[in-house]
Amino acid sequence: MEQRALARRATAIERGDPEALAYVRERSGPGLTVGITGPPGAGKSSLVDAMARLLRSAGKTVAVIAVDPTSRTTGGAILGDRIRMRQHHADPGIFIRSMATRGSSGGLAQATANVARLFRAEGFDYILIETVGVGQDEVAIARLADVTVVVLVPGMGDDVQAIKAGIMEIADVFAINKADHPGADQTERDIQTMLSLGHGRATPIVKTVATEQIGIGELLAAIEASPRRAETVDASFEIDHLGIAVRSLDQALAFYEAQLGMTVQSREVVAAEKVNVAMLPAADSRIELLEPTDTDSTIARFIEHRGEGLHHIALRVPDLQALVTCLKAGGARILGEPRSGAGGHLYVFVHPASTGGVLLELIQK
Ligand code: ZN
Repeated sequence: MEQRALARRATAIERGDPEALAYVRERSGPGLTVGITGPPGAGKSSLVDAMARLLRSAGKTVAVIAVDPTSRTTGGAILGDRIRMRQHHADPGIFIRSMATRGSSGGLAQATANVARLFRAEGFDYILIETVGVGQDEVAIARLADVTVVVLVPGMGDDVQAIKAGIMEIADVFAINKADHPGADQTERDIQTMLSLGHGRATPIVKTVATEQIGIGELLAAIEASPRRAETVDASFEIDHLGIAVRSLDQALAFYEAQLGMTVQSREVVAAEKVNVAMLPAADSRIELLEPTDTDSTIARFIEHRGEGLHHIALRVPDLQALVTCLKAGGARILGEPRSGAGGHLYVFVHPASTGGVLLELIQK
């Protein structure tokens, strides 16, 4: 697609235009989406430039999405991009897009994911998503990428520890940029120490000097070697169960068991929720009948206000924490933080105000 037409389509996607969104939903491509995030001043823009330059010299096409959630009011290009635009100006194999405003289709993370999908559909080999800071939006955006690079710089000292755990966890590759500055080895040791305390996954650490084009080949090799994350976090939803509030389990089972012929697999007393639960499997999901054990329980209050009926829908999701980060960035009302249930699974509720009127439970086994 011609550059100007591509820019127009990206704008339509940002605005949540249904036709443009349908266009990207129906298409995909093999391109690799790489998130580049890290604190301000780490030289992310220079690093993205250096990566783009090396990829272009290897004959790969590159789309760059520069995301700045803080400059919502400008709605235009980020200054650095104008400079870069000039640099790559004559090259049709590179396309640079700034995203500084929220699309109406949802949060910035979702809009960014859709624009990235457009570039993949247009056949770009690499889509580099560069974020400006380390806020919630940036973490959500980085999580949408196939591979996420966290960029740090020497001399951060205790700041490595101070960077939110969230951003350290999402790193598939660490880049220590400005590695010609004193303290690069210390920063590497700090990262290694932190990694040894955490998940134990081997995360490569690459030293770069973006302005000198040093270490960029190693960085790209580490990115290529990283296992790709699923294309989007919404890849596989399944209905885990439907929760139905009833006054009396015995009365309800007289229908579900005796008449309908379903089987109670197990009964449970959930003391914390003041509820008796009967579980009736249905293929890979189940119906949960919920009977209050106390008049001041959530279920009792629900029945009092709305009568017996569907209380909540529970969806199984592959990565609850990632999804919750995205939902929050998009402005959804999440009730509390994800917590562990009896079976060791993680769960959280989304307020009916965000879901079309039904309490939604999200579960990760
Ligand atoms: Zn439930």
